[in-house]
Amino acid sequence: MAIQRDEAFVLKRVPLRETSLLLTLFTRGAGKIRGLVKGVRKEKNSLAARFEPFTHLSITYYEKLKSDTHLISDSTVLNSYSFLRSRLDLFAYASYLMELVDALFGVHDSYPDVFDLISDSYRFLQDGTPSHVVRVFEIKVLEKAGLLPILTQCALCGKSDLEKAFFSPKQGGIICKVCDSRESGTIRISSGTIKSLLYFMRTTLEQAVKLQLGIQTQKELERIAHLFFQYRLEHPLRSFHFLSEIRPVLR
Ligand SMILES: [Zn+2]
Repeated sequence: MAIQRDEAFVLKRVPLRETSLLLTLFTRGAGKIRGLVKGVRKEKNSLAARFEPFTHLSITYYEKLKSDTHLISDSTVLNSYSFLRSRLDLFAYASYLMELVDALFGVHDSYPDVFDLISDSYRFLQDGTPSHVVRVFEIKVLEKAGLLPILTQCALCGKSDLEKAFFSPKQGGIICKVCDSRESGTIRISSGTIKSLLYFMRTTLEQAVKLQLGIQTQKELERIAHLFFQYRLEHPLRSFHFLSEIRPVLR
């Protein structure tokens, strides 16, 4: 067993027996890991509060080579990001980001850029337009996972400068009118939406979240994201459903 020290974000936590927590963490050095914390409810100032979702921690853990789950022996809160748990919309958006990271990355693949992307996105959730931040996050995180959609030419025949384009989750990008006639499960994608997505890809998170988006573009981006993840991920994203459920309440 090797002792590791790292920084981590809490993606998920599940109570285990009386006094333990099973955590899914995203660490700076080792990517996604699973960690077990023991004795959480024995202590007076419950340790459990420290492991709320979204929390940024410094952790020490014993790396178990024969198991996917490591034993967390020490932890300190670096930033609790409590504002993300104080508003329903922010909680829903941040949950979506965490669920997406959990779904896209396997255990022990190191992605330090994703770690920074999470902390930057948290900051913009507070300062910017949350619904917009998640759209940019989707593109940035897909880029890190090597799953960026093809948006500059037809993903099937390679034709560029498409007058009319369709989004195909199966082909992982846009396709032309001719190819679309042979495909199923596609939706129309406007040139404005394609331009916005390309802008997200080519600029920094900070620049991308400042782009002004019309209502139609926002709706289209969300529909495309939903379709894409539904097709690409093993399980449907529960937080995506949650977000659409609470939307009427937020207006
Ligand atoms: Zn084509």
